[in-house]
Amino acid sequence: LFETEPPPWELTVEDDIAVGRIVFSEAPYGPYDYQIPEAEREHLKPGMRVRVPLGKRRHPMMGWCIETRIGYKGKRGSLREIVEVLDDEPLCDPALVRLVLWISHYYQAPTGQVFDTLIPSSVRSNAGTRERAYLTPNPDRSDEKSIELLPKKQQAAFRFLIAAGRPMTASELMVHAKCTRGPVSGLQSKGYIDVSMQREMTATTPMRWQKNDGESQQTHVPSEEQTAALERISAAIESGTGKTLLLHGVTGSGKTEVYIKAIEQIVRAGRGAIVMVPEISLTPQTRGRFERRFETVAVLHSQMTPSERHFQWQRIRRGEVQVVVGPRSAVFAPMPRLGLIVMDEEHDASFKQNEQPRYHARKVAHARAMSLGIPLILGSATPSMETWHATSTGHAELIPMNERINQRPMPSVELVDLRIRDDRTRGAISRPLHLAVQETLNEKGQVILLLNRRGFATTIQCPSCGHVVACPDCDMPLTHHRDGGKACCHYCDYTIATPPWCPACRFDGIRYGGLGTQRLEVEVKARFPDACIARMDSDTMKRPGSHQRVLSAFRSGEVNILLGTQMIAKGLDFPNVLLVGVINADSALHFPDFRAAERTFQLVTQVAGRTGRGDRGGRVIVQTFSPEHPAIQAASRHDYHQFATDEMVNRRKFNYPPLGSVARIIIRGVVEDVTEAVADSLLGRLEAARQALGSEVRILGPAPPPIPKLRGKYRFHLLLQSTDSAQLGETIRRATDSFTIPEKDDVQYVVDIDPIDM
Ligand code: ADP
Ligand code: ZN
Repeated sequence: LFETEPPPWELTVEDDIAVGRIVFSEAPYGPYDYQIPEAEREHLKPGMRVRVPLGKRRHPMMGWCIETRIGYKGKRGSLREIVEVLDDEPLCDPALVRLVLWISHYYQAPTGQVFDTLIPSSVRSNAGTRERAYLTPNPDRSDEKSIELLPKKQQAAFRFLIAAGRPMTASELMVHAKCTRGPVSGLQSKGYIDVSMQREMTATTPMRWQKNDGESQQTHVPSEEQTAALERISAAIESGTGKTLLLHGVTGSGKTEVYIKAIEQIVRAGRGAIVMVPEISLTPQTRGRFERRFETVAVLHSQMTPSERHFQWQRIRRGEVQVVVGPRSAVFAPMPRLGLIVMDEEHDASFKQNEQPRYHARKVAHARAMSLGIPLILGSATPSMETWHATSTGHAELIPMNERINQRPMPSVELVDLRIRDDRTRGAISRPLHLAVQETLNEKGQVILLLNRRGFATTIQCPSCGHVVACPDCDMPLTHHRDGGKACCHYCDYTIATPPWCPACRFDGIRYGGLGTQRLEVEVKARFPDACIARMDSDTMKRPGSHQRVLSAFRSGEVNILLGTQMIAKGLDFPNVLLVGVINADSALHFPDFRAAERTFQLVTQVAGRTGRGDRGGRVIVQTFSPEHPAIQAASRHDYHQFATDEMVNRRKFNYPPLGSVARIIIRGVVEDVTEAVADSLLGRLEAARQALGSEVRILGPAPPPIPKLRGKYRFHLLLQSTDSAQLGETIRRATDSFTIPEKDDVQYVVDIDPIDM
């Protein structure tokens, strides 16, 4: 008997059991299988939230359903049951659920966390909504006989509700039927009235945005290059194959106009589009252009209240919106009938998320577009090396736009060598730049000055003992801010009053070294006392609407000189800007990062593109300590091709992206040597995984990164490189699978696939 009949726990296949596969946002992340209760069998779908028992926890845990199926193979009775299904409808459609699973796999992030990223917390918490009870007459009691059994007042109210022919709230009924709460409650308790709960938005979005900012509504007759670009985009739309197109257009070549016309075509076909831009509040002009050209635009930005965000999300999901404009998270917009995705300034670093899941919106957009068979348009004057390389391997189609609108010339760029300045010219502004500003102001032109460092002084140092005032949590020098005399850490938000004397040796006479935008502002004011100056950096732009205020003052000509950080390098289109000055082009050049040259080229080219947009031309002065550097040379000649060719040679030497793939594992902990020990054991596992898989992966480290201590935690990096990104991913997956760190060590690690800041 024993030999023919399997033991009872192997009686496995239970054909009629409905199973839901659930993931969690916190460890243990799952997925785990649960039995779906009979009543929810038809209802539960992937993309809904549930509550389930988990381990020995006393309360059920919230989780996301990723799959449902009938039939379960396992020990009889081993499945626990789902306690509750939380959503009436899935929060994302099947295609988005697949996208979640792909992101989770590719970026090696817990699936539950990806759901939490995809569905804004305002949506999950139903921000800006309330539940209301609606009353309807019970049809079984609506006959004359039953009604006559009721007391007078109840009869009247009940007849009124029947006559109304629609659900009413209790207070509505009380007002209309002119009765008190008593009869209504009576009807309810006698079962004459059914109650159903409905969730409603309490308010619609307050539209703080003013559409009329003095720009014309007109649509332009497309230029030859624009026409050619639009033809290729139309072909891509029609092909339905999910093509990626790179619109490589110099600054001012009319790329935005191309996006708009392409989207018009999509909207005419009854479909919708997503447009991603680096940060919409920095570019109110771009926002205005979309809002003027389309009837229904949902603009997503960082300063929305939770209920606004929820409201917009619901509008998008109901298909009430033609165009969604927003930052990287817009790639997840739940737009039904999506027909096109656009990513403007596709090289911009803000498209990569710096926390789990560390996704790049370009990669996600590519995956979403491919799966839907719709085009992805990437636009830039300075494409990322990744995208540029893709055009040479056939993964993306290159659409060049080499000319500015109306054949305006590119501005001329002069380099000022900061090494050979004479002593007479002290401060941040060289003599040639000073003269150029003066001349521009005399001609009633406007000036943009770029300095990519905020604050007043970037170091606070004692000239006597050499002590540098640093952040206790990050070990990085504090930046002195003049307003309020504060010293701030720019890596965390640690802030103290700037010490009047050296905290180490008490020497009275601490020095502020290095240059930030505040100090530049002081210097510019002293040099050009008659000019009106505005500063734009994250310190002055904290309040909602401040960008728009400064930019309208600049547009109107009230402000003569706009100075600021990279914020001012993006997207601005003001014809009266006759001069752009770059205070220090080298600020990004000497970072220990293989993208340093690319960043420098992009920043200088982008800011240079802010001038020469009107009839009066424009000029650019770039101050630098390395005028011979290829990136700065290429930027000064507006020569992307030269830059890309040089840069590709450098990348090839070490198989850096885009020729190979890089991944990084960041290990963080409170105690330095415990953290390092964890990093070492992870290294051991990576080496074992590499051997087991026979994968060609180079492993570097563990080494302390450029910022070795952040927010009170020591950090170590392991860097992995390979020409085969799938092998790279698999090696990490294998090494980290079931890798656990004892809780007492207090060490965490994160995997960062395709990191962009090294
Ligand atoms: P980019 O996005 O490439 O920097 P924009 O789309 O902002 O360029 O265009 C630059 C300027 O040229 C804008 O002021 C825009 O309104 C204008 N423009 C765009 N296309 C045309 C056109 N076909 N004819 C005239 N002006 C145009
Ligand atoms: Zn800090």
